[in-house]
Amino acid sequence: MRVLVTGGAGFIGSHLCEFLLEQGVEVLCMDNFITGSAENCAAVRDRPGFTFALHNVTEYIAVDGPLDWVLHLASPASPRDYLELPIQTLKVGALGTHNALGLAKSKRAAFLLASTSEVYGDPLVHPQREDYWGNVNPIGPRGVYDEAKRFAEAITMAYHRYHGVDTRIVRIFNSYGPRMRLNDGRAIPTFITQALTGAPLTVYGDGSQTRSFQFVSDLVQGIWKLMHTPVNDPVNIGNPYEMTLLDLAKRILVLSGAQSEIVFRPLPVDDPKVRQPDITRARTLLGWEPRVDVDEGLRITIDWYRQRLHA
Ligand code: UDP
Repeated sequence: MRVLVTGGAGFIGSHLCEFLLEQGVEVLCMDNFITGSAENCAAVRDRPGFTFALHNVTEYIAVDGPLDWVLHLASPASPRDYLELPIQTLKVGALGTHNALGLAKSKRAAFLLASTSEVYGDPLVHPQREDYWGNVNPIGPRGVYDEAKRFAEAITMAYHRYHGVDTRIVRIFNSYGPRMRLNDGRAIPTFITQALTGAPLTVYGDGSQTRSFQFVSDLVQGIWKLMHTPVNDPVNIGNPYEMTLLDLAKRILVLSGAQSEIVFRPLPVDDPKVRQPDITRARTLLGWEPRVDVDEGLRITIDWYRQRLHA
């Protein structure tokens, strides 16, 4: 099997490349390092079967040789990144997805879109099932990401229905683990970095908003299972264990042994109040569910950041 991973040098992409190589899959990793990095690929760079192409998938994608899959992960994914890169975020979700689908069609490859729980916006239905259409503000600051991914889902289904491309849509809920950038702005890397450097943990709002965090190895297993299951409709992949952000901050303090205080900062515009995946579809159709509980995953992640900060 030969697979293209767009965004392969990103946080999730690099873990996925590593996993695929372990399954004996040949991996062509493509990235423009806008939010990914060569360092993320250091573990796989010299492995047989791995090649890298520096390319922005918003431009026409040329690949030599056959491909069995196009796994389209390329996109800024943290709120801080997509607020700083609004046009690139819209372009990669729209033009990048179009190019990646065109490539899949011409290679007769299957296509997987990394979509997001953000398609549900600030949800009015809880937990979120795949048949919920969402509550998204198209013109708010997060709209650049949410609407790009919603367009990406629409064009993926259009290529499936109109061109017969074999497609998958994975709706990825909040994920974490080693290799998230220290300054990526998302809650888990931010809190861990703050805890390990003795800085106060910055909880936005009153911290009562909830998220459900999955460890990256569970996500990668879910993507692999989805590739092997002929489901063209979207599938949520996430850990249904839901917690408030204040509880998350406290948990990170306990697990890291840090003495930092918790401070409260203004809640960003359109910050979703709740988020929890209904994973019935993944459980029943893929036989998948998360295995890593939050304490275990956070411990692994804290250890990784500790090494990075002391390196
Ligand atoms: N958050 C926070 N402090 C931070 C960073 C994020 O309290 O330093 C909150 C943020 O407002 C949101 C939640 O943590 O309610 C998760 O934010 P993240 O950026 O990780 O991802 P999101 O789920 O919003 O896309």
